[in-house]
Amino acid sequence: MIVLMGLAGAGKSTQGKMLAEATGRVWISAGQVLRETGKYDAIMHTGQLVDDELVVKLMAEEMARVTRSGRDAILDGFPRDVYQANWVVENIVQVIKKVVRIDVPKEELIERLLARGRADDTREAITKRFEIVEQNICSVCDILEKAGVEIVRIDGTGTPEEVFRRLMEATKERKAENE
Ligand code: AMP
Repeated sequence: MIVLMGLAGAGKSTQGKMLAEATGRVWISAGQVLRETGKYDAIMHTGQLVDDELVVKLMAEEMARVTRSGRDAILDGFPRDVYQANWVVENIVQVIKKVVRIDVPKEELIERLLARGRADDTREAITKRFEIVEQNICSVCDILEKAGVEIVRIDGTGTPEEVFRRLMEATKERKAENE
């Protein structure tokens, strides 16, 4: 599996779908899986995380479904915090091929989100959210890296096609002797 990480608006979903299309993998978005239950809209709207045990249960079901169909997955938005990262390490770390972090300068993301505009999105609120999410991303990457997962970072600026070229390059199989 490939895990995509990045701040809101960095293009995880767009890139995840493009990678799925190009490689025959299945894109699994935690946000999408939660939305489809129709049960957590209120908490999701606040930007707070839905209960860990619940998310892990839903994601485990979804991953099992994909695995049963003989396909590989791209995880988008999971793992998102320390609890979820530890769950990944304990349960599925051996099937994680790589984590790709999509980097876009925070200022650019804030401008994009303000332009997209939810009425309650102020610059201060977005900046605060980003700080928390960024801390979580760092903790998740540390945990996965210590468990032996390779983390690569790609530049997420430019057109979706430009970013996708970098993503394909970053996820390409490499011969062991080059590593
Ligand atoms: P997203 O579609 O990634 O922007 O996620 C939308 C919302 O779903 C988030 O604001 C959270 O409330 C919830 N969510 C998504 N992924 C997770 C996760 N891994 N753990 C907990 N909550 C999540």
